[in-house]
Amino acid sequence: MQAILTLLKQQNLFDKLEQLAPMPASVDEVAKVHTRQHIDYVHKLCQQHKPQLDPDTYLTPESYDVGLLSAGGALTAMRAVMRGNLDVAFSFGRPPGHHAEPHRAMGFCLFNNMAIAARHAQEEFGLSRIMILDWDVHHGNGTQKAFYHDPGVLFVSPHQSPLFPGTGHLKEKGEGAGEGYNVNIPLPPGCGDEVYSQVFTEIIRPLADRFRPELLMVSAGQDSYHNDPVASMNLSFAGFAMMARHARQIAEEYCDGKVVLTLEGGYHLGGLAEAVVTILSELSGWDRPLNHEPAPPAEPIYDDPFRIIGEVKAFHNI
Ligand SMILES: [Zn+2]
Repeated sequence: MQAILTLLKQQNLFDKLEQLAPMPASVDEVAKVHTRQHIDYVHKLCQQHKPQLDPDTYLTPESYDVGLLSAGGALTAMRAVMRGNLDVAFSFGRPPGHHAEPHRAMGFCLFNNMAIAARHAQEEFGLSRIMILDWDVHHGNGTQKAFYHDPGVLFVSPHQSPLFPGTGHLKEKGEGAGEGYNVNIPLPPGCGDEVYSQVFTEIIRPLADRFRPELLMVSAGQDSYHNDPVASMNLSFAGFAMMARHARQIAEEYCDGKVVLTLEGGYHLGGLAEAVVTILSELSGWDRPLNHEPAPPAEPIYDDPFRIIGEVKAFHNI
């Protein structure tokens, strides 16, 4: 967050943003997605100064309160957009959320900020079609699980596979009434702008055309950046601009321009900051030149991503 805010200030862009102070989410608000047992467990571990929830997910004594604040940031962003105060709101919350499942924390995530905001968008504003686009390089297992039976949320997750958390097979398509509303796009390591561009034009845009979302929500993780230390995708900043442009166009076409983003992963601090500012520039129409730092030459990819794109299309009748 400091890297992002520093870059925004250095480039005199910070003052162009309207800043909203987040209200912490209440336990009742979080409990629309998570079990009370999970919420109490996180609270208790923090009170006991337990440092670790699992090998990836650490805690400080303040983590429970910060987790509620991060979830509250996503709620604040969603409500500002739904009330018409803003077209686009990006919640820079930490910890991130998309790995947190209804009954457990995992992968740095305590509470699923995005899922909580989406559930409240349904309940408070009566939305019947929300599209959650999760472009973090990891599969958004927690968000998938929260809406797996819900046809009111179209969850779309292009991600690197194999990679943590190991879920996200293309045949995980939702269940019951939610069948067909969960779309995984598992891509081999090494994919860059060209593959992602095809994922958007051949899968994500047609899905949006079919679903006609009332609200677009983006779990924006920037760990597909080519220098990111935890993953092996090959996106340049032009790739992030391309993804944000598609998001803006979907929102303009179906959602009165409404987009809510939450910050997920991104572990190369310079790359994370530049990618986020690139995304904000594209969504806000700022006249800021694209950083053309090129991604390294494509490495051989062990599997054919275009075949996988074809399989996803065939599986979902796109
Ligand atoms: Zn990630």
